[in-house]
Amino acid sequence: MSDNSLENTLKFFPKKLILSSIQYSPAAAMITSFETANSKELAIEYVNPAFLRLTNSDNEELIGKNPFKIFKTDAEDQQLQTFYQAFSLGKSIRPEILVKFPSGESVWVRFIVNSAPSGDKNYQLWIEQDLSNKKKEELSFEKQREHLARLFDDSDEIVFSLDVYGQMFYANEAFYRNTGSDESFWVEKQVLNSLHTAEKAETETAFRDAIQGIQQSLLASISGRSARQLWYSFTLTPLILNSEVNAVYFVGREATMIQLKQRYELIIKNIIEFFLSEDDLKTILQKTLENLTQKFGWECGEVWLPDHINRRMKLFSWKYPEGEQFKEFKEVSLSVEVSDEFEHTLKTQKGNPLLHKSTHLYLDENFPRKEYANRAGLTIGFSMPVFLGDKTVALFSFLASEENKENSGDLIFVMRELSQRLGVYIEKHRTAYDSEQLFELVPDFLCVLDANGRFYKANRQILDALGIEQAELKKHSFLEFVDREYQAITHEKLHEVKTLQLVKFENLIKGKDGLLLLEWSLTYNSDEQIIYGAAKDITLRMKYDEEFRKGSDRFQLFSEAISDAIYEWDVVTDEIIWGEGLKRLFGHTNYEDFTSLEGWSKYIHPGDRERVKGNIRASSLRRERLWVDEYRYQCADGLYKYILDRGVFIYNEKGDVVRMVGAMQDINPLKESEETLIKLNDALQQRARQLQGFNKELEQFAYIVSHDLQEPLRMIYSFMQLLQNSEDVEKNEKSEQYISFAIDGAVRMKRLIQDLLTYSRVGTTEEDFQEVDMNQILHETIMVYQQAIRDKNASIKIEDLPKVKAIQSLIGQLFDNLISNALKYNNKPKPEIGIFFEEDETHYIFCVEDNGIGIDAKYFDMIYLPFKRLHNKNEYSGTGIGLAVCKKIVEKHNGKIWVESTPGLGSKFCFSITKDPIQ
Ligand code: ADP
Repeated sequence: MSDNSLENTLKFFPKKLILSSIQYSPAAAMITSFETANSKELAIEYVNPAFLRLTNSDNEELIGKNPFKIFKTDAEDQQLQTFYQAFSLGKSIRPEILVKFPSGESVWVRFIVNSAPSGDKNYQLWIEQDLSNKKKEELSFEKQREHLARLFDDSDEIVFSLDVYGQMFYANEAFYRNTGSDESFWVEKQVLNSLHTAEKAETETAFRDAIQGIQQSLLASISGRSARQLWYSFTLTPLILNSEVNAVYFVGREATMIQLKQRYELIIKNIIEFFLSEDDLKTILQKTLENLTQKFGWECGEVWLPDHINRRMKLFSWKYPEGEQFKEFKEVSLSVEVSDEFEHTLKTQKGNPLLHKSTHLYLDENFPRKEYANRAGLTIGFSMPVFLGDKTVALFSFLASEENKENSGDLIFVMRELSQRLGVYIEKHRTAYDSEQLFELVPDFLCVLDANGRFYKANRQILDALGIEQAELKKHSFLEFVDREYQAITHEKLHEVKTLQLVKFENLIKGKDGLLLLEWSLTYNSDEQIIYGAAKDITLRMKYDEEFRKGSDRFQLFSEAISDAIYEWDVVTDEIIWGEGLKRLFGHTNYEDFTSLEGWSKYIHPGDRERVKGNIRASSLRRERLWVDEYRYQCADGLYKYILDRGVFIYNEKGDVVRMVGAMQDINPLKESEETLIKLNDALQQRARQLQGFNKELEQFAYIVSHDLQEPLRMIYSFMQLLQNSEDVEKNEKSEQYISFAIDGAVRMKRLIQDLLTYSRVGTTEEDFQEVDMNQILHETIMVYQQAIRDKNASIKIEDLPKVKAIQSLIGQLFDNLISNALKYNNKPKPEIGIFFEEDETHYIFCVEDNGIGIDAKYFDMIYLPFKRLHNKNEYSGTGIGLAVCKKIVEKHNGKIWVESTPGLGSKFCFSITKDPIQ
C-alpha cells in the first residue's frame, strides 16, 4: 500500500471502517494523531487487542498518551524530529519499539507507520511489521487459538475461524452452545456447508472475497447437530500474517436480538398479567397465543399439552385464521404420538425452539393443517417446548409465511422469556384443570355442598338439569330443588352424613325439564366441612316401568284396529295374550284354549305343527330378532287357513328370550290366487308345447310336399321340353305358344318349390350356434354380388362388425337376401348400400340401408309373408320368399326384423339377434 493510497483511504473512508479492519488483526496496530499545528503532541487514539497483548498493557495506560514517550524507542531525539516531519508530510516511517513480555524478555518490534493529514488533524496508522522478530510459536495456530480464545471465549457473539481451506481451527463457547455441538462434531466437516443464506452461493462468494483480504458481511443461519436454525449477522474478517491472508474469522451476532429486550418486555408483561388475573388454563393459553401470533404476524398458533401416561401430545388450544375448516376441530380428537426421536429432540433442545419448514412438520401426514398450511402458503413454522425441570409441560407451535421469517427471532426471544414462567404456571393449573375436566366429564351428577347444604360447586350435568348457571349456583341451596315429598328424607340425610361416613338414598329433583329420580351417595369432609354428592339418574328406569304399563293398554287398542291376530307371549310364564284377531280371523271365542304355547299349537295343521314349533325354538336359540313362518291354522269351523306369522323376540341382558310379540296374517286369499296362477301357467305352457308341435308338423309337411312335388314337376318339365323340341310332333303357332307357356309355368313352379324348400329348411337345420365373424360373412356375400355391383355402378359401405354367436349358414343367407334386395330394388344411377351395427344390453342390431325405390308403410308387415310380392315378375324378378326366410332366420336367433322406409328415397332393413342364444 503506498502512502498516497492510505491518504486517500483515510479521506474517503470513515475511520470506523479502518478500525473494524484492524480490530481483529493478529498484527498489533494502533492509530495516533496530532493537531496539524503541533506535530509533536502525538496522542494514541486507538490500539487493537493484538497491540495490548503485545505490549502487555491495557487501554487506560495508552489512550491519549504519546507513544514515543511511553515506549522505549531506538530513535535519538534528532531522529524523532524527522519522524514528526515525515508525519506532517504524509510519509511513511519504520520505527522500532522495545516490548517487554511477561516472561521478562524484551524484544524490539518494528512498525510501519503511515501518516495521512485529514482537515486540521493528522492521523497515523501503526501496524506491526516485522513479525520475524517474534517467537516462532507465536505464529502457530495454537498461539492464534489462544489469542482468539482470550478475546472471544466469553463473548455472547458466536465466533469461529476457518483456514483458507475452509477448515475450522477455532470456535468459541457461544458457537458450540448455539449449534448444539462440540469440537468433535466439526472435525472433518466444512463449516461453510452448514451456513445457510438466502442465496445459495452467497457464503462461498463472501468467503472467497475475505480470503482476498476484503472484510465481508453475511446474513446466514447455521445448523449444527440440532435442527434448530438461528439467523446471525456475520462479519468475515481476513487474518493477515506477513501481508498474507491465512485465515478468516467469522463473528456472528444473533440477527434479531438487539433491541428485543425493551421492545417485547411489554408483551411479556401483558401476558404475565393474565396469569395473575385469570384462573382458567384454557383462557390463558388462548390469550397467550392470540397475543403472540398477532404481535409477530404469525398466522397460526397452537398449544399442545403432553399426556405423559399415553405418550401423546394433545392439541389443547389454538388460534387459526377465521373461517378455516380446521378451526372446527374437536380438541379431544386431535392428538399425536410422541416418538422417541421427538422426545429426544425436545430434551436436547431444552429451552430452544425447533425451527422447521412446514413441509417437515413432525405431525402426521394426514393432519389437515398441513394441507391448510400448504394452501395458505405457510411455509415456515417452529415449535417451542415449555419445560419445568426435566418435564416438557407444553409445546407451542407457530406457522407463518416465508416473509415473516425475520420475526421468528423476536418470537423466539419472547417465547424463551415466557417459557420458564409459563412452565410453572401450566403445571400448577394442569392438575386443577384435569380434575375439573374429570368433574365435568363423568356422566353422573356431581356437586359440592357446604355444611348447610348450600351449593358450592356443581358439574355441567347438574347445571343443565336444574337450568342454572355456574355463576348463580352459590345463591341456591340443595333442598330448593328437591320435590316436596322428598324434602324430609333429604334433610335428614344431609344431617346424617356428618356423623356417618357415607349415606345413600333416593330423591326426586325438580329439573328444568321435569322431575328426575336420583340415587344419591353423600360423603362428608370434616376438615373442610363440605359435603360431596354424587348421583345417578334412575328416572329412565322409572319411565320404562311406566311405559310398559302404557304399552299394554296400547296393545289392546292396536289389536282392535288391525285385522291380524296379534299376540304377546311371555316365554318365562308361558302365557299368551291375544288381540281381537283370534276371533275375527278364525272365529275362535274360547280364548282360554289359546293361552299357552301348547294350546295354540294344537290348532296348527298336523302337517306343519312340528316344523313350526321347531323353527321358533331354533330362531330363539340363535338369538334372532325375527321369526317368520307360513303354515295352515284351523278355524272354529274346522277348516284351515293359510297364515303368515311374524314374531319378534325380546331378550334379557343375559341373552335369554323373555317375550315374543307377533301377528298372524291371513294369506288364504293370496294363496288361492297363487294357486289359480300356477294352474293358468300350466295350461299356457301346455298350449305352447302343442303349438310348437303343430309348427314342427307344418314344417315337415311343407318339406315333404315340396320335396315330393319336385319329382312329378321334373317329369312335366322334361316331357314338355321333349314336346317342344320334337320334330315328330306336328305343331302350329298356337300349340308352340301353349307349350312355351307350360314350360315357363313349370320353371316358375320349380323355383317356387325350391323356395318353399329353403323356407321350410330354415327351421330344421342341424347346425349349431358358433362364433361367427360378421365381417367375414359379409365379405363373402359381397364377393357373390361383385359383378352385379359393378354393373349397377353401386357402392357399399360397411362398418366394422362384431363377432357373434349364431348359426353361420343362416346368417349368410340373411345378409344375402337383404343385400340382393337392396341392389335389386334400386333404380338410382348410383345405388348406395350401407351396413351398420349397434347393440343394446341383450341384442346385436344390424341394418342394411339402401337409397332405392323404398316401400310404402302400409306394406311394412306384409312383405315378410311367404310369396308376398309388391311387384310383378316383369318389373322385378323374384318369388317373394326372401324376406319370409329372413324373418324365420332372425326368429331362430331370438330376434326381430323390421323396416324403415320412404318411397322413392330408400329403405333400411334392420334385424336383431340375441347375445345369449339358448342352444
Ligand atoms: P322378392 O325380392 O323375391 O320379391 P322378398 O321377400 O325378398 O321377395 O321381398 C318381398 C317384397 O318386398 C319385394 O317384392 C319388394 O317389393 C319388397 N322389397 C324387399 N326388399 C326391398 C328393398 N330393399 N327396397 C324396396 N322394396 C323391397
